[in-house]
Amino acid sequence: MSGNIYLKRGKEKPLFHRHPWIFSGAIARVENANDGDTVEVYDAQGQWLARAAYNARSQIVARVWTFERDEEIDREFFQGRIENAMAARSTFQRFNVSTLNAYRLVNAESDFLPGVVVDRYGDFLVAQFLTLGAELHKEMIVDVLATSPLTPLLQGEGNRARGIYERSDVDVRKKEGLKQATGVLWGEAPPDKIEIVENDLHFFVDVKRGHKTGFYLDQRVNRERALPYLHGEVLNAFAYTGAFGVYAAKMNNARVVNLDVSASALELARENFALNGVEANAEYVVADAFEQLRAFRGQGRTFDAIALDPPKFVTSRGNLERATRGYKDLNMLALQLLSPNGFLVTFSCSGLVDAKLFQQIIFSAAVDAKRDAQIIEKLGQSPDHPVGLHFPEGEYLKGLIVRAL
Ligand code: SAH
Repeated sequence: MSGNIYLKRGKEKPLFHRHPWIFSGAIARVENANDGDTVEVYDAQGQWLARAAYNARSQIVARVWTFERDEEIDREFFQGRIENAMAARSTFQRFNVSTLNAYRLVNAESDFLPGVVVDRYGDFLVAQFLTLGAELHKEMIVDVLATSPLTPLLQGEGNRARGIYERSDVDVRKKEGLKQATGVLWGEAPPDKIEIVENDLHFFVDVKRGHKTGFYLDQRVNRERALPYLHGEVLNAFAYTGAFGVYAAKMNNARVVNLDVSASALELARENFALNGVEANAEYVVADAFEQLRAFRGQGRTFDAIALDPPKFVTSRGNLERATRGYKDLNMLALQLLSPNGFLVTFSCSGLVDAKLFQQIIFSAAVDAKRDAQIIEKLGQSPDHPVGLHFPEGEYLKGLIVRAL
């Protein structure tokens, strides 16, 4: 027997709009529900609304699996959702596995599977289970992933993944009362470095220790889009394993300074430049970007183009103002380092900084840098990171390509 939750009067509206989150403040009454249970959700009049994963430990007390009354939360349900997500990816024309074999296969709420993220790296899948509801269906989800043919086709045997690895080492699990978890979920353990292909360029990805699930897949389209602007002397700030720089070096024969605070990330960046035959085009600087950009300014050093891809500075509304100042300072410094008519390719992956605020920040940075500047292109997240229209929170990455006079 499954439990029930009843919403307060007037709190059903987001569910009519198919938003999958139910906050504690919306709930009037809970019957027979334990954390992790799949529950029936009713409005104040007792009308059925949805079927959801319940977890009283989280501020988001329930996350909707389905708005269809006859849809049970079983293996068939997960299979349907996963097949649907794969079908969305197979329509992307560029997904030709000889030139691209790494992308996000399942993007959680935006693919109608709250708390479930699955990325593909060649013949391996890397999964994250971010919520209790997802965690408790892990075995079923892994079984579906292990047994269904993956689309677009894998080059490996039998059109199936060789292994599925877990990277549920993320802070959000704490809010759900879950411990971090990593390791092999099914099949073979991935090698320490998986070689992937992205737009005909090759990268080593450390799916066991790298950031996120190993690679910033959300930036793929932006690496392509930035290419026309990354020529000459390029500063790749927040380089991680070098991706933007490898594109510029290989495709434009640019000379790239890769800057990151992580020595191990830059070690892998060095291997990635070598893997693409452009090791002679690259330098590496292990340093804090704020300090290093100031140091470059002090030396009078300039660049023809700068990629600026910092980590998420805004972790809550509480630090929005401070983080905004951080983005502004960085962009001001970068603009000051650009040679005349140089290009700044700048990003924010903080969900709480929307596109409008981000543009205002870059504008303030240009004012403080005393550079006239123009927006050449606006960028977002790659198409394998869709944003559910019902779930605007899924939009987090934005970028601007700016030309500084
Ligand atoms: N552009 C990269 C992804 C960047 S992720 C790509 O396309 O793959 C952000 C990077 O910023 C991480 O590698 C992290 O190590 C680095 N980082 C975080 N804080 C930093 C700081 N203060 N100075 C320099 N690098 C920093």
